[in-house]
Amino acid sequence: MRLFKTIAGVRTELKSAWQTDQTVGLVPTMGALHSGHLSLISHARQDNDLVVVTIFVNPLQFEPGSDLEQYPRQLEQDCQICEEAGVDIVFAPTVGELYPQAKQVQGTETQEELTHVVPPASMTSQMCGESRPGHFQGVATVVTKLFNIIQPTRAYFGEKDAQQLAIIRRLVTDLNFPVEICACPIVREESGLAYSSRNQYLTPQQRKQAQGLYQGLKRAKQALEQKQVRDATELLEILREDAPWSPSQFDYTALVDPETLQPLKKVEKKGLLALAVYLGKTRLIDNMILRDRAPIIAIDGPAGAGKSTVTRLVAKKLGLLYLDTGAMYRALTWLVLNSETAIDDEAGVAELISQCDLELLVGSRPDVPVEVRVNGKEVTDAIRSAIVTRNVSAIAAQKAVREKLVSQQREWGEKGGLVAEGRDIGTNVFPHADLKIFLTASVTERAKRRQKELTAQGKEIIDLAQLQGEIEQRDAYDSDRAIAPLKKAPDAIELITDGLSIEEVIAKIVQLYEREKS
Ligand code: AMP
Repeated sequence: MRLFKTIAGVRTELKSAWQTDQTVGLVPTMGALHSGHLSLISHARQDNDLVVVTIFVNPLQFEPGSDLEQYPRQLEQDCQICEEAGVDIVFAPTVGELYPQAKQVQGTETQEELTHVVPPASMTSQMCGESRPGHFQGVATVVTKLFNIIQPTRAYFGEKDAQQLAIIRRLVTDLNFPVEICACPIVREESGLAYSSRNQYLTPQQRKQAQGLYQGLKRAKQALEQKQVRDATELLEILREDAPWSPSQFDYTALVDPETLQPLKKVEKKGLLALAVYLGKTRLIDNMILRDRAPIIAIDGPAGAGKSTVTRLVAKKLGLLYLDTGAMYRALTWLVLNSETAIDDEAGVAELISQCDLELLVGSRPDVPVEVRVNGKEVTDAIRSAIVTRNVSAIAAQKAVREKLVSQQREWGEKGGLVAEGRDIGTNVFPHADLKIFLTASVTERAKRRQKELTAQGKEIIDLAQLQGEIEQRDAYDSDRAIAPLKKAPDAIELITDGLSIEEVIAKIVQLYEREKS
């Protein structure tokens, strides 16, 4: 791992990565690293060739009178943590390096000295923005600078700072930054308290009180799920009741749309329930996404582990919709193969699929659980051909294809009530699925199953060793590819299916689902 304190230094180091199209994952932090940061780093490590962590206590986002001076600074210790977490580069510039133009850099005082990035006032004026004027302009400005300096493929932000995340997503859309924003779930201590560098300020008694943030959020979530309380006023009341601090210590409580941050009267599909509380001088924030929809079960895992059969049968058993994502990729592959566009012409493929109308329908034949239509044409059988099978990985690895299908899947997912499988369904497509299963089996077991399948289909029998080799190769390709690599979500339950019958696997998943619901 290398540490850089200058822009010139870090950019020189990154030059060869940019030139060779290596993927770069950026994790912006203010240091004093904890498990929350480590989760961002681990996501970045899994997805990218290079991981860059920036450590910079950005004075621009501290309003006058706040804790800028006190904010914990521990660069040496942080570098050690980064080294152990497999980070490639730490960029830790000084204030003078990042803001050479400004004489004094803090909050709104520098507005006249620096070019600022100003996100929409509708997103920055309420919640944290109300008590921290200038904060989100400071965040947007420093994040813009870091994007320009590091030029990452992906940037990782925690859902802990949900308002910041929504504003950054908007910034990237509005200013066309060519970077993918990856949101990572909140990491909490055993007690439910979300990790934060500011937890260091708390006295033992305040630390105990701080558990009340999560308790309140959980109470509101349960009220929605168990008593169908959707009304904002009622949910906010539940959030505030029984708090182990006085009402005057609340900075705010809010129920807003998680993307636009506009206040909601009630939870329709989903709402961001957020709060900030002062414990002594320390201001703590926390939040939770509330959803009013039928459940989602997400099943990930390597090829040949039986995902599609299991998913289909679980859906049938529970009366949920089977979202056959594999069929969606096959459908687009079929579309490309039946067009003038070459498989490797990424721009042409992007153009072609942007116009494509894809439909999944509940199958009318018992052997076909899902029927597929592309631009109105029935392709259910055609997408299972050998030529589609040979080309589907190459198509699935293309960014535009992924984006089109992920947004389509998320749209269907808003309604819930489905079981979905796919290589990154629990990590990327439905990170908030109610139950995530990582279905796997040893290479030998998967090869045996494949051989059996080929025999059953009356196809030419392939030698077991050759099948194992092919499976290993496919695993390596799927794990290493830049887009949607195979990885287990941290909150997924691993189910190793060696020696289990399909019925036993289904029974286990149904049991886990019932436990989750109760
Ligand atoms: P900070 O160093 O506080 O600016 O945080 C850097 C990044 O880590 C931000 O994207 C935060 O949202 C994220 N982060 C901080 N705490 C947590 C946590 N407990 N869980 C998940 N992400 C977090």
